[in-house]
Amino acid sequence: MSRADRVKVLLPMPVGSGYDYRVPADMAVAPGDFVRVPLGPRHMTGVVWGEADGAVPDDRLKSVLARHDAPPLSAAHRGFIDWIAAYAVAAPGSVLRMAMPVPEALDAPGPVTGYRMAAATPSRARITPPRRRVLEALAGAGTVEAGRLRAETGASAAVLTGMARVGLIETAPVAVRPDWPAPQPDRTGVALSADQRSAAQSLGEAVGRGYAAFLLEGVTGSGKTEVYFEAIAEALRQGLQAIVLLPEIALTAQWLARFEQRFGVRPAPWHSDLTRAQRRQIWRAAATGTARVVVGARSALMLPMPALGLIVVDEEHDQSFKQEDGVVYHARDMAVVRATLEKAAIVLASATPALETIANVERRRYVRLALPERHGGALLPVAELLDLRREAPPRGRWLADRLVKAMAETLAAGEQALLYLNRRGYAPLTLCRTCGLRLECPHCSAWLVEHRLAGRLECHHCGHIKPLPRLCPECSAEDSFVPCGPGVERLAEEVAGLLPSARVLVATSDTIRGPAAAAALVQDVQDGAVDLLIGTQILAKGHHFPKLTLVGVVDADLGLAGGDLRAAERTWQMLNQVAGRAGRAERPGRAILQSWRPDHPVLRAIAEGDRDGFIAEEMAARQRFAMPPYGRLAAIIVSGRRAEPVRQMAETLAHRAPAQTDLAVLGPTPAPLALLRGYFRYRLLVKATRAINLQAYIRRWLSRTPQPGGVRIKVDIDPYSFF
Ligand code: ADP
Ligand code: ZN
Repeated sequence: MSRADRVKVLLPMPVGSGYDYRVPADMAVAPGDFVRVPLGPRHMTGVVWGEADGAVPDDRLKSVLARHDAPPLSAAHRGFIDWIAAYAVAAPGSVLRMAMPVPEALDAPGPVTGYRMAAATPSRARITPPRRRVLEALAGAGTVEAGRLRAETGASAAVLTGMARVGLIETAPVAVRPDWPAPQPDRTGVALSADQRSAAQSLGEAVGRGYAAFLLEGVTGSGKTEVYFEAIAEALRQGLQAIVLLPEIALTAQWLARFEQRFGVRPAPWHSDLTRAQRRQIWRAAATGTARVVVGARSALMLPMPALGLIVVDEEHDQSFKQEDGVVYHARDMAVVRATLEKAAIVLASATPALETIANVERRRYVRLALPERHGGALLPVAELLDLRREAPPRGRWLADRLVKAMAETLAAGEQALLYLNRRGYAPLTLCRTCGLRLECPHCSAWLVEHRLAGRLECHHCGHIKPLPRLCPECSAEDSFVPCGPGVERLAEEVAGLLPSARVLVATSDTIRGPAAAAALVQDVQDGAVDLLIGTQILAKGHHFPKLTLVGVVDADLGLAGGDLRAAERTWQMLNQVAGRAGRAERPGRAILQSWRPDHPVLRAIAEGDRDGFIAEEMAARQRFAMPPYGRLAAIIVSGRRAEPVRQMAETLAHRAPAQTDLAVLGPTPAPLALLRGYFRYRLLVKATRAINLQAYIRRWLSRTPQPGGVRIKVDIDPYSFF
């Protein structure tokens, strides 16, 4: 049997790097094809990865069962998967799993339910805005598949069935075509300012000419989105595809609306809230090249795109691009890798770029395009520090008088205010007044957080919930629990007492669940139905609220605690983003930051608007300690359900670390939360110069160290957080 009759198939599993299979004589397969193969007693779908290794004797070789009717994964995409696996020290199959679609996407779909205009329209039917959108989408469009109609119009299934019931539209079977309406690049956009035009021109010239990487840096409201829209337009004109990664897909209603305004249709969305039918359709549309622009959370980066010409990573500094579960990777960094492999242009956009990105500009790997001003001359908010040591609020309150006064003035002027506190719930700690017991999660060494609206205690790490006990489990005192510290719910209570007529909306991941709720929130704020927003970081990003002129940061020090490498950088980014919510239109904005440490360099830099000073100082500190972006860092995390074996394994690893110059293994140290979701964890940190091949070192090290059962080892290259 000749070798061409055998192929290596990579399976989406965390072990091995592919198995050999025989190709039956009547079947033709090529690298990248999705195929069904036997694995032990089961059948599985994998991807033809290349030539067989030839190690398996012919008589033990099993045959490929079938070839799926799906577009093959390109060589570039397979290279991308291998690249991530090598970089993240993960199994290629684990990475492939992230790129696998829902199984039904692998075969050409049969007919499904669709809707079309009713032959005769009833005269009395009520036309709500969603109904109008559906009618507009169906006008002249024939029969449109139900899932697609929902995605295009934002109408729910209930709206569609309701419309069919009253006779506005009717159902009909329709063959699903893997297409997506094409965005129109040449509809008129806004008239760009000179700075915007020159940035857009640089991007436009790069699209379609191979790999090129840009940092698009500009304060919030400077028009970064308008500028990269022009790069997308150029990709579209050349028949290329684009991926746009956004941090919080649930919060992009405004973004989608703007895209639609610019390009005439919505882009294909990709995020965790899609139905299976939508996943199937959009995956095929992306893989066949008919979905021209896909916008999504970090997982959108794994979609096959045969004509990929442009990747945009908006808010590139955002932490949510780091995936911590499963294969640990940073979507921004991997986006750059993908752009390299696919010979595409990439734009990283941010008002507060990551230091890694700034370092890459300094190394001339990325071209920096700057938008120095807010569009239309809108002023950046003036950030004032409020020294809590001198202006502390009265006991049991969290808002200083100066901030309260500013809120009252803002509302009196018919404008809106935002209070930012990145703490969900009522109070972060509940303790017994009699014996001092703190209520803790049984699975994590963390306090339980009271959520008064939901009437319960919650662990923010594992989701454990229970009612607030009436008797203290320790001393049996009755009704003795007191809340300590503020959460957003408690702030709402305080505001209700101070500004009783204010219409307050609390926005957190508890109250804003999913895209529809986020869209409703944005609408309410824009319509002026809300005076005061109180919220967590979900409010910090991307929104444009013209009447919002005051931002109060309740605890500007919150992110500075702890020994995290990026604490200062993150606080800088977050406070800039939050403050940037104020005064985005013609009204000037104001930000008041309450702090116990107003002399901290980060807070001083914010108050003085000293971007360059802050970055220079932070970069110098990183350089002094040979920390990223000047040095390389990896974490080895050992975890398990029993403390002692975990500790022992961590010690063993430390002892067995091969000696290597320009590299140090630090630790092991127990995690700050000793117990998380019932797991004990220890971490070793590997710190090396940039010349060292960290992955090769770690592979060598781990392969030499036998791993006992019941203990897990996870590698985290470029670690971000550890708690
Ligand atoms: P960023 O992405 O930098 O925060 P945006 O692109 O969202 O900035 O722009 C902020 C606001 O200003 C948006 O409403 C946008 O439509 C508007 N805008 C930006 N540039 C222009 C322009 N040249 N003409 C008209 N409106 C603009
Ligand atoms: Zn817990």
